Amino acid sequence: MQLRFSAEDEAFRQEVADWLAENLRGEFAQLVGRGGPGDENALVDERIAWERHLGAAGWTCIGWPREHGGRDATLAQQVIFHEEYARAGGPGRAGHIGETLLGPTLIAFGSPEQQRRFLPGIVSGETLWCQGYSEPNAGSDLANVQTRARLEDSEWVIDGQKVWTSWAEWSDWCFVLCRTDPEAPKHRGLSYLLVPMEQPGVEVRPIPQITGTAEFSETFFDGARTPADNVVGPPGDGWRVANGTLAFERGASTLGQNLLFRTELEEILRIARQNGRASDPVMRQRLADAWIGLEIMRYNALRILSQARGAELPPAAMITKLYWATWHRNLGKLAMDVLGPESMIGDALPYQLTALQRLFLFTRSDTIYAGSNEIQRNLIAERALGMPREPRPA
Ligand SMILES: Cc1cc2nc3c(=O)[nH]c(=O)nc-3n(C[C@H](O)[C@H](O)[C@H](O)COP(=O)(O)OP(=O)(O)OC[C@H]3O[C@@H](n4cnc5c(N)ncnc54)[C@H](O)[C@@H]3O)c2cc1C
Repeated sequence: MQLRFSAEDEAFRQEVADWLAENLRGEFAQLVGRGGPGDENALVDERIAWERHLGAAGWTCIGWPREHGGRDATLAQQVIFHEEYARAGGPGRAGHIGETLLGPTLIAFGSPEQQRRFLPGIVSGETLWCQGYSEPNAGSDLANVQTRARLEDSEWVIDGQKVWTSWAEWSDWCFVLCRTDPEAPKHRGLSYLLVPMEQPGVEVRPIPQITGTAEFSETFFDGARTPADNVVGPPGDGWRVANGTLAFERGASTLGQNLLFRTELEEILRIARQNGRASDPVMRQRLADAWIGLEIMRYNALRILSQARGAELPPAAMITKLYWATWHRNLGKLAMDVLGPESMIGDALPYQLTALQRLFLFTRSDTIYAGSNEIQRNLIAERALGMPREPRPA
């Protein structure tokens, strides 16, 4: 197992750190530390401008092949980029769904024409995307999608409802999993459509969350339209493409979170030392456990990186989401316990939360989105350990 980054990687780290230090200034200085979990509605226009600034300097989509506008960065370099971005307090990325989900899907499954048409907008930060998968009765059981699309003349016409669509309010396009053959068995007859959001047939209703922000929405399609060739992969093959996207969601993009988590833990440790709770034996043990968990995450990320072949991750990578999500949710709870009664007092009325309160509330969702903990355990059992498949209703 390789526990150190190479000299070349460290030079790359310096390049990233220098660029961020020079550019998170002036008009962008206000973005430092903003737009993270529970703070998603903050400075949205400014963060979109920042996304375009990153794109113009070649710091978006760095892991993509050069031919598609990326830098061909290795997995290690991608992790380093995320680490330095977190260290510099880089703001929540407006383009992350396009960069980490749709772009890699189009590179793997899209036609050359779709790649030429849609990838440059993601690289430049001009086009923002959202993910239209979940529905009121299709979350973990995603194949139960009921949103329908039919071909009429040379267009798909879409009717149905999606829910929990992150960034729908600000996105230009949505990749929508639709049922295009209602007669086919559940996992067949689905298609993966690219749908423009700015049209009369699409209505977005933001859902306020417990954090007071609304990073996701209900998305209604009522006769929404998109050209016939905006289907990724053959019509009816959407399940395969949708699973490709999910694999990217579980993939490399979360390996570099360690530094962000470390900053959060350090703040909690600072408060514990200051308010005396660090002297409580049980609290000390929980704080130490949190630190140990963070170190395990870091070593596991290094292990995965040294076992990875190109962009292909080893089976050990399958534990990453389950581990970090559970650790992070527990950290939110630890933060509140360290604060004690103070944890009940917000920053200002009517509902302005402190950063740690936002952390606590938002991390409740870490173990739900991108596959709940129970689903992660099923995946580990079936795909990493080769256990029999979960019994499913006939
Ligand atoms: C912050 C946030 C952002 C999101 N963003 C998006 C987005 O942008 N686009 C999008 O399409 N969706 C998004 N989602 C939705 C997310 O993908 C779903 O919430 C998730 O897949 C779970 O589905 P569900 O909410 O319908 O819960 P359900 O699937 O109904 O699950 C309910 C409970 O049952 C358990 N369960 C379900 N099936 C099994 C099983 N087979 N074995 C054991 N336990 C099981 C689950 O683990 C869970 O505890 C987001 C969710 C959150 C919280």
